[in-house]
Amino acid sequence: MSPIGIFGGTFDPIHFGHLRTAFELMQVLELEELRFVPAGDPPHRDSPLAAAGLRLAMVRAAIAGQPGFKADDREVRRDGPSYTVTTLAELRAEFPRRPVCLVVGMDAFLGMDRWHQWRDILRLAHVAVAHRPGWRAPTEGTLGQLLSERGTDHVADLRQSEAGSVFVHPVTQLEISSTDLRNIIVSGRDPRYLVPDAVCEIIRETGCYSQQATR
Ligand code: ATP
Repeated sequence: MSPIGIFGGTFDPIHFGHLRTAFELMQVLELEELRFVPAGDPPHRDSPLAAAGLRLAMVRAAIAGQPGFKADDREVRRDGPSYTVTTLAELRAEFPRRPVCLVVGMDAFLGMDRWHQWRDILRLAHVAVAHRPGWRAPTEGTLGQLLSERGTDHVADLRQSEAGSVFVHPVTQLEISSTDLRNIIVSGRDPRYLVPDAVCEIIRETGCYSQQATR
């Protein structure tokens, strides 16, 4: 059965590094559907600059027209910290038998053992990790051990069971980050070609990054 992909993030703002990574993994994992899930209140970082509803609107604008890409607003609607494990538990209840793949960049994966109830994540979903410029796969520690026990190079493993494997995959390396983008915008430069035009338009119209201090 084709897995459902879940791509969580702050998306403050969404950029081509997210979109290309999501697109390549959707193809490699043969996902029918990849859901972008913007965090309402991301628990492991400073508060986002743009409001959750605006980040969701930018995600919607960025993915419009791409078959299989969907925006899932459950973390924006939910009160309290946006724990990934809660989102995955909700999806598991909706799709009891369907494989679910949580897509993360390598930087996010390296912090996963500090996430809320992180071991339950592997009971609820597979994890597909995209290489990201400047980050290496762990070879030791809890996550190094997890990779050696649960790592697989076979996409078929992600279709044959509902959860529990870790798949690391190289994607086209685009050294774009939302932090750099916010800095570009606040310093009066143009983010064009780093984010979709429709996202540029929302940023320009709302001034959501230009007036505020960078983090
Ligand atoms: P910030 O700079 O604000 O921390 P970010 O660019 O890392 O933001 P997030 O929304 O925090 O973006 O990331 C969501 C997910 O996308 C994470 O799993 C992250 O690892 C991944 N990701 C972000 N940028 C890239 C990129 N350029 N290439 C591959 N993965 C990425």
